[in-house]
Amino acid sequence: MAEFNYGVPAGDNWLPAMWIFQDLRRAWEYIRNATGVDPGSVTAKWENGQNCYPSWPFCGSYFNGGVGGPYIFIAHNSAISGDTVVHETGHHYMWNATGWWLWWDVGCYNHSLFSQEDVNCAWSEGWADFLPLVVNGDTCYDFGRGPCGAGGGAFENLETRDRDDLPPLFPWGDAVEGRVAGALYDLFDSANEDFDSATFGFASIASIVFQAPHEDRFSAFWNSWKASGQNKHHAVRAIWQNTIDYDTPPRFEPPLPDRTVLQGFGWENAIDLWAYSTDEESSDWELDWQIVYTSDWRCGVTIDAGDYVDIYPQAGWLGSCDVTIRASDSLKTADDTFRVNVVPVRARVFLPLVLKNNP
Ligand SMILES: [Zn+2]
Repeated sequence: MAEFNYGVPAGDNWLPAMWIFQDLRRAWEYIRNATGVDPGSVTAKWENGQNCYPSWPFCGSYFNGGVGGPYIFIAHNSAISGDTVVHETGHHYMWNATGWWLWWDVGCYNHSLFSQEDVNCAWSEGWADFLPLVVNGDTCYDFGRGPCGAGGGAFENLETRDRDDLPPLFPWGDAVEGRVAGALYDLFDSANEDFDSATFGFASIASIVFQAPHEDRFSAFWNSWKASGQNKHHAVRAIWQNTIDYDTPPRFEPPLPDRTVLQGFGWENAIDLWAYSTDEESSDWELDWQIVYTSDWRCGVTIDAGDYVDIYPQAGWLGSCDVTIRASDSLKTADDTFRVNVVPVRARVFLPLVLKNNP
């Protein structure tokens, strides 16, 4: 990488070229330092005063991975925006790694952070919206200099967008690039809020993006994440926080067993809830249980700190009850009901003790 040893006077027409180069350098160094992987080279084009690239059908900044490419074009009016430069760089790096570029997705040519898109567009743009947040070190996507609107210019704070932000202004799901970017950011960052308890850092995300298979949508990224062996419980919660639902509910498997207790006796650890519960994303220790219904409280059914069901019926009581237990993965729940029978001790049977004498 080249070193600068040149003072650029204020008002110099070449100043934006310096800004752009510094943005490219920051992006490359961030990825290289965080992952150990060289994301490859980037060609950037910019011309003083030029917001539209000759022969290109649209104005504004863009990435071209096709004829004449690969390169990023930085429109003059966005050269001030380090987030825009790193955004286009993110497209270029994804193309470097995967050869994937959405040239055919015409619906994606005109998009914004919270526009309703298709899953391919939202993945491509969501990744490119996420990268500048980590490279430039703040939670806002700035169309101006930033951070977060400092120095003027529109911005969107992707960290604060959550399930309280509703359509139509803020549509939900993995076909919205701002949601994908927010989910990636919550997987990445160590600031946790609401459902976000994830702190995975950049390398765990980039290693999926930059390595085969080459995901073309966020759900494919999620499949690769699950296959990577990384924690899924916290990941699916961070994604949920950003309105994308990849969570499968827990289930009782096998169903909870009925239990029979002798009158006047109790049964400690009558049911091991870990043995009867399962979940795709959460391990047993990441699930929670509670009793949501008991047809007769005299059954004396409780759940102890070790996630076992204890049964201590009221002294002298005889009868049956149905108990419903709810398992929760913290996002979704499942219920199952089992029966407790408290039966009388009919007879105390003393078996004769037979001693066998060996000759
Ligand atoms: Zn883009």
